[in-house]
Formats: sequence, C-alpha cells, structure tokens
Amino acid sequence: MQAELRTRTGELIHEFSFPDFQLTPEVAMWGSRIFVLRDPFNIKLDSDRTVFYEACAWSVEASDAFAHLQSEPLEPPVINKPAPPPADRSQQCLTNGSPVTADHREIDPESGQQKAYVVLTQEERAKGFVRPVRRTYTHVGVWTEMISGDGVTSKQRVGGCDTDTKMGQALAETYARDPGFYSGTFCCFCRVHRPLNEFVWKDTSEQVGS
Ligand SMILES: [Zn+2]
Repeated sequence: MQAELRTRTGELIHEFSFPDFQLTPEVAMWGSRIFVLRDPFNIKLDSDRTVFYEACAWSVEASDAFAHLQSEPLEPPVINKPAPPPADRSQQCLTNGSPVTADHREIDPESGQQKAYVVLTQEERAKGFVRPVRRTYTHVGVWTEMISGDGVTSKQRVGGCDTDTKMGQALAETYARDPGFYSGTFCCFCRVHRPLNEFVWKDTSEQVGS
C-alpha cells in the first residue's frame, strides 16, 4: 500500500509503502516521530494514498508501582509527608483577608448571606490540609427514620433541596485545613444557613465538615 506521512496541518514529510495488512495500522512510527490515521484538523486531503498525520505523543514509563497495581489489589499509597500541625483557630480573617468585624454575621436581606464570612488566614491555611480542597456541596437534607403504614422503618434524607452551592477558595481551604471550623453553611437555593449535617460534598456521601 502506498502511504504518506504528513504534519498535522497537512504538509508532506515522507512517502513510503507498506505490505497489505488485513487491518490498516492506526499508527506509523518514523524514527522517534509518531503518526496516526486520524486527521486532527479535518483537512480531508484528496489523496489516493493512506495518510498518517503527525501525533503529539507522550511516552509513559512503566514503573514498578504500575506493575504492582496490575497484579495485586490496590493498597493506599504511603504518604511520607508529616501531618500538618493542628489548625490554630485564633488565626482568623474575613474571606477578603481583612480583619474580622463585629457585624460580619449580619444577614443581607437580598441574598440571605452574611455580610462577610470568617476564614482561617492564608498563612494558617498554608500550613497544610487534612482533607481535599472541595468547593461544591449539595443540600441533601438530614437522615431521618421513616416508618411506613405497615411498620417498616427506613432512613431517608429529608429537608434538602438537592441544589449545589459553590463557595470561594478561602472558605474551601478553611474546610480542608480544619474540617470542624464551621457548624453550618449556606444553601444558594434555600437562601438560608443550615447545619452541616444537611450537606454533602458534591458527588460524594461525605458530609461537609467531617
Ligand atoms: Zn437548599
């Protein structure tokens, strides 16, 4: 078969022929350069030859760790980093970095949000996180035991609106640094602050603040 190698934008680099395969190879290697049958810029060259376009390729090293994962059950990775020191809750400021004001808890009647929110200072947050930094949570309600007519009990979430609320980076980092820092949070749909046991991090069953 007649074939050609071209750049991603269609310039001819090299012409060659290869034996007739039952299945046309998807990849052609020319020295260390790699070419694929895919036409990345959809040029649709009018060529009667098989055209391979140069590909952006990344060579992945097959490390010992990877071989281990293939043959044995996954074990949690050993993290050698020392645990961060406990958070110093006296190191507080408002989300914009300014000092905490006496009236920051005043509710804005328009939004239902506080005038401002307290976070741990940037310096304190930088000492290390004990949880991932997550910015979006879902108002799922609180687990409640329900008894049906025939006396069967089940647990259901009650009182949530299933809406996602996204918070700012400073708040998210404060949760990650000190999960117990807050006792409640805001739902952007209900426009009220509710206890944390009504919220989970988006797409998890993990309670916010745990
Ligand atoms: Zn809600």
